[in-house]
Amino acid sequence: MNTPEEFETLKKENENLKKNNAVKSDLISISAHQLRTSLSALKWIFKMFLDRDLGAITGEQEGLIKKAYESNERMIHLVNDMLTLNHVEDTALTFKMADTDMLALMEETLFEFSGESHKKNIEIIFLKPTETLSKVSCDKEMIRVVFQNLVENAIKYSAEGDKVFCSMREQDEAIEISVRDTGIGIPKDDQENIFAKFFRAPNAKDKDIIGSGLGLYTTKNIVDHHKGKIWFESSEKGTTFFVVLPLKQ
Ligand code: ADP
Repeated sequence: MNTPEEFETLKKENENLKKNNAVKSDLISISAHQLRTSLSALKWIFKMFLDRDLGAITGEQEGLIKKAYESNERMIHLVNDMLTLNHVEDTALTFKMADTDMLALMEETLFEFSGESHKKNIEIIFLKPTETLSKVSCDKEMIRVVFQNLVENAIKYSAEGDKVFCSMREQDEAIEISVRDTGIGIPKDDQENIFAKFFRAPNAKDKDIIGSGLGLYTTKNIVDHHKGKIWFESSEKGTTFFVVLPLKQ
């Protein structure tokens, strides 16, 4: 047991930590937003060159501008992932819980990614349950981030013309969601690190697929805060991610 004096000291230290954390998080958010504004401006300038809006360019110039454009895209992706993670860590204690229709949320997410999947000629098949599902008490915008990360990865790590399957079912007072792809898979040796901050498996990096290694870390963070579970099964033939969210916590 702590003495009243020790308790007061701990309380003060805790308040200081909270204050420092808020300052750090504001700093990340402000710098990341400023970075993103500059990177977006660069993106449009590179694009104007590539679209020949500013006149003719040589093949050599085009090659270099393309490289700059892609490198800029990687930075935009990283900054966006950093902003999402910062937001999740910031608001984790004040999640806005409300009864949410998971099926509708997944449909919204899939619609959002229809452009991406179309570009790669990937068909997304949503195997919807026949029965009506109970709603889940959750922070809708945070669970949207979970769905977005899983669907985005399934498309990103699949080859052109592949299929992605989503499914949903209710079991034991919880909703189970799965997202399956037939993509590059996660090598056995890397599987234990997959939810670690900034981790990217070598087969993803070798293929030059844009990523930051923050998506699944953020996803797990959100699922944990909802007292849910997340896991995956993977082989060279593809990957399936599973998320289980209890109806009530
Ligand atoms: P990233 O931005 O790199 O995709 P994530 O945190 O979302 O970051 O994922 C971490 C790593 O897990 C990826 O870099 C990739 O190596 C692996 N990974 C995630 N999802 C898949 C998937 N569906 N298929 C194959 N590998 C995946």
